[in-house]
Amino acid sequence: MNTEKYKQLLAEIEPFHAQLIAVSKTKPVEDILQLYNAGQRIFGENKVQEMVSKQEELPKDIQWHLIGHLQTNKVKHMSSFVSMIHSVDSLKLLQEINKQAEKNNRAIDCLLQIFIAQEETKFGLSIEELHQLLRSNEYAALKNIRICGFMAMATNTIDDMKIAQEFSFLKELFVHVKEKYFADSESFKELSIGMSSDYKIALQNGATFIRVGSILFGSRKY
Ligand SMILES: *Cc1c(COP(=O)(O)O)cnc(C)c1O
Repeated sequence: MNTEKYKQLLAEIEPFHAQLIAVSKTKPVEDILQLYNAGQRIFGENKVQEMVSKQEELPKDIQWHLIGHLQTNKVKHMSSFVSMIHSVDSLKLLQEINKQAEKNNRAIDCLLQIFIAQEETKFGLSIEELHQLLRSNEYAALKNIRICGFMAMATNTIDDMKIAQEFSFLKELFVHVKEKYFADSESFKELSIGMSSDYKIALQNGATFIRVGSILFGSRKY
């Protein structure tokens, strides 16, 4: 864990008014506490079980963001405390989040994950699926979720131009969708884009959240 890097990163982000999500997946609670003591409050995890066990051990004012692919049967384990779910990619998942949020007498903030990359392995809604979802009556009936914006991952490439194109495409889509479906919504304002390798490009293209892991915590061994 590198608090020097953390301070540098915060200074770099500051002019863009974006928020840093410290991605702590696979890292021990000691590492998280160190960053917490340096002032960080938003942490991101990609597995529900891991997030739940860390949440139980760590200070309660941490805001936990679920950033990884999510199965419907896992939603209930984190619905009491999760701060935002970045990886919503189906109506079925949204309905389950709504159901669990209702049980907990709360609303859960969600981002729709949009597919913008070239690789076939990345999750997310296509543009067509996105419009289909937002136009549906089933979606309109959900009262315990708040759609706060989009999340996406760019193609894993060293071609910065390509990454910039994908992020700026997403930003345009965001503006269009906000006008069309969320004109009256104050919540629809977030763009969660950018990781350790491409957060600078993301900041230049309108990121409001960047999700950074390895720069802060060191590389991961899977
Ligand atoms: C792991 C992960 C990150 C952080 O990746 P780094 O390269 O370590 O910064 C960001 N977003 C998602 C969805 C991830 O799974």
